Amino acid sequence: MSWENNVRKVVPYTPGEQPKLDNIIKLNTNENPYPPAPGVQEILDNFDIAMMRKYPDPNAQILVDAIAKTYAVKPSQVFVGVGSDDVIAMAFMTFFNGDKPILFPDVTYSFYDVWADVYRIPYNQLPLTEDFRIDPKDYARENGGIIFPNPNAPTGVLESLETVEEILKANPDSIVIVDEAYIDFGGVSALPLLEKYENLLVVQTYSKSRSMAGMRIGFAIGSEKLIKFMNDVKFSVNSYTMNQITLLCGAKALEDDRYFRETTGKIAATREDAKKRLTELGFTFPDSYSNFIFAKHKTADAGVIFEKLKERRIFVRYWNKPRISQYLRITVGTPEEMEQLYTALTDILKEVGA
Ligand code: PMP
Repeated sequence: MSWENNVRKVVPYTPGEQPKLDNIIKLNTNENPYPPAPGVQEILDNFDIAMMRKYPDPNAQILVDAIAKTYAVKPSQVFVGVGSDDVIAMAFMTFFNGDKPILFPDVTYSFYDVWADVYRIPYNQLPLTEDFRIDPKDYARENGGIIFPNPNAPTGVLESLETVEEILKANPDSIVIVDEAYIDFGGVSALPLLEKYENLLVVQTYSKSRSMAGMRIGFAIGSEKLIKFMNDVKFSVNSYTMNQITLLCGAKALEDDRYFRETTGKIAATREDAKKRLTELGFTFPDSYSNFIFAKHKTADAGVIFEKLKERRIFVRYWNKPRISQYLRITVGTPEEMEQLYTALTDILKEVGA
């Protein structure tokens, strides 16, 4: 069929499984095991459905203002979207329009190459070092833009602000996007570097540290100039990306800093305990500063462990891809969920003679 020649054909991103089974332990998509801040429930309880009649505020002002206040920036420096996936996709569309390839690590968030493909952006994936670190010198080459997560996914490895700044210094002519989806579990944000670098865009999300993956809220903070360019593109695609309930819940969630610190702190503590427990079971992993651990067993095959965990209704993430096919990405759950994981792993390792 000749119309097929004009179809934009892409190989889509594969999201982690959302199994429709009861009684599972779900450690496969880096969701937060704790509920959102209690104030969010109040918003939902008091929501007047008559509000739905009207379009939401296209500027998402209540949410933008709340984010600006929380991170001590101007509202004109904040862009919001339907999860950070939407924000990053908009950033690709807005900023990556040159002929030179954009750069990102070889082992990283597997959506970056998909967006590059869908928008026809050339790209180079630069190999991380043997221990999954970014060598900033690799990024001192001609490029059409740069993106990397910090901490990286799926490795959990955190790069220092010095490394981030070295990349920025070497690239005054490129937009540099730092994807901080997991920054709140122990990382140091690049936000202070915004004072010096007009070409820096920091992206964060409510999906992990704020327990609101299902609500779909992501945001970018950058110079007023970058944010204006992103909003111009957004308003050229869809003015009403954020629905009214989401705007109210998103703004409310930020008011409860104590709850935020408490839940992120609990996850970090469970992660530190998991490092000990997994080591005892014979796993190694790069040191994680995120809400997941990227673990490899000294003898047992990752694909086999993955399947056997699944049989026991424990879901983790596994990619049969170069460099990482012996690793499992395990999201940090509640201490109780993690105990069940260690019990299952102990059984499985016995079963396979590891
Ligand atoms: N960046 C990274 C590195 C991620 O792991 C994820 C989660 N899949 C995202 C962005 C997108 O998250 P969300 O769209 O839920 O904000």
